[in-house]
Amino acid sequence: MANETIKRDVVILGSGPAGLTAAIYTARANLKPLLIDAPADAEKQTAPGGQLMITTDVENYPGFGEGIQGPELMHEFRKQAQRFGTEFMEAWIREVDLSERPFQLYTDSVTISTETLIIATGASAKWLGIPGEAKVPDGFGGNGVSACATCDGPLPAFRKKVLVVVGGGDTAMEEATFLTRYAAKVYVVHRRDKLRASKIMQDKAFQNEKIEFIWNTTLEEILGTPEDGVTGVRLRNLQTGEESVFDCAGVFVAIGHKPNTDLFKGQLDMDDVGYLKTSGHSTATNIPGVFACGDVQDSVYRQAVTAAGTGCMSAIDAERYLDHLPVAMPSGDEVTIEGEHITPDHKAIITPDGHMIPNTDERESV
Ligand SMILES: Cc1cc2nc3c(=O)[nH]c(=O)nc-3n(C[C@H](O)[C@H](O)[C@H](O)COP(=O)(O)OP(=O)(O)OC[C@H]3O[C@@H](n4cnc5c(N)ncnc54)[C@H](O)[C@@H]3O)c2cc1C
Repeated sequence: MANETIKRDVVILGSGPAGLTAAIYTARANLKPLLIDAPADAEKQTAPGGQLMITTDVENYPGFGEGIQGPELMHEFRKQAQRFGTEFMEAWIREVDLSERPFQLYTDSVTISTETLIIATGASAKWLGIPGEAKVPDGFGGNGVSACATCDGPLPAFRKKVLVVVGGGDTAMEEATFLTRYAAKVYVVHRRDKLRASKIMQDKAFQNEKIEFIWNTTLEEILGTPEDGVTGVRLRNLQTGEESVFDCAGVFVAIGHKPNTDLFKGQLDMDDVGYLKTSGHSTATNIPGVFACGDVQDSVYRQAVTAAGTGCMSAIDAERYLDHLPVAMPSGDEVTIEGEHITPDHKAIITPDGHMIPNTDERESV
C-alpha cells in the first residue's frame, strides 16, 4: 500500500539515451524532472543506463571520434542530466493510472502524481538463453555475441570473419544481409526448413552469395573464451538429433525485440508487437500529456542517436504542453493541456465539453 505521494510536472521513466536526453532538456527548461528507473535485473533485462550498459565499443554515436564504451557513454549522459538538476529515483513502477491528469504511478511504497509522463522504457532484444550467450564471465556478450548488426557488424572483431545469424524472420534476413558488407561469410541458422521472413527479404538473402542457410538446426552453446571471444557454436540438427561444432567468430541473435510496455497495456495504443504508437509529428501518445521516446516507440531504427533524438522531442513536447501550447496527437488532432482539440485541418477547435468553435480570431460557438 503506497504511503507517500510525490507530485511533479514531469516524470520520465527509463534512463537509457532517450530518458536521459529528455531529462537534460526538461531540467534545463527548469521543469525539475523526476527520472524513475527500474533497478538492474538480468531476467527482465533492465539496467540503469539501458541497453548500452551491456555493450562495449560504440563507434557510431556522433561526437566521439575514437568511439566510446557503452557504459562510459551512459555515465556521461547521466552526469549531464544531473548537472541541470534531474532528480533520480530507482524503483519498479508496478502500476500506472493514465485515465486522468495528474497521472498516477505506483511503486510498493510511493505514489507519484505527475502532469506529464515521458515513457522511455526501451525494448529488450530476445535472447536464446543458451550457455555462452550472457555477459562475461558466463558468456561472451559484447565480445562476439550481439543482437544488433547495425551497431556491432562494422567492429574489427567481425570484419572478414565467418559469422552466424540466428533466426528466420525479417530481422534475421536484414541482419544477415547487412553483415555481408563486412563478413567473409554469413550462415543463417534456422530451426525450421523455411523462413518466416517476407518474400522480398527472403529473395534478397537467397540471392546474396555470401549468405548460406543451415536448416532445421538450433544453437545449443556458444563456444570461446572471455579473452578471445567467440570461436564457434555447438549446433543440433533437429531432424537427426546430431550435434556438431561449427567454427565462427561471431553470433548475431536476430529473433526479435520486445518493447517494455506491459505496464501500459489497455491504456495506451500499441501496435501488434507492443510498440507504443506516437504521432508522426510529435512524441505524443493517444493520451494527452503522455509522451513516448526511444526504442519503446521505434521498431525501425533502434539506435542510441535516434533514441536521444526522440528523447529531445519528448522533452520539448512536454514543455509545450505545460506551456498551454498545442501538441500533435497520433489522430492528427492537436491538443492543449486545457483539453481543447484542434482539428487536423486547423479549421475548428473542440472544447472539453464538446463544443465546436471556428479556429479564427473571432471565436464564436457554431
Ligand atoms: C548489445 C547492444 C549493442 C548496441 N550497440 C549500439 C551501438 O553501437 N550504437 C547504437 O546507436 N545503438 C546500439 N544499440 C542500440 C541502443 O542501445 C538502443 O537503441 C538504445 O539504448 C535505446 O535507448 P532507449 O533509451 O530507448 O532504451 P534503453 O536503452 O533500452 O533504456 C530503457 C530504460 O528503461 C528502463 N526500464 C525498462 N522497463 C522499465 C519500467 N517498467 N520501469 C522503469 N524503468 C524501466 C531500463 O532499466 C532502461 O534504463 C545496442 C543495443 C544492444 C542490445
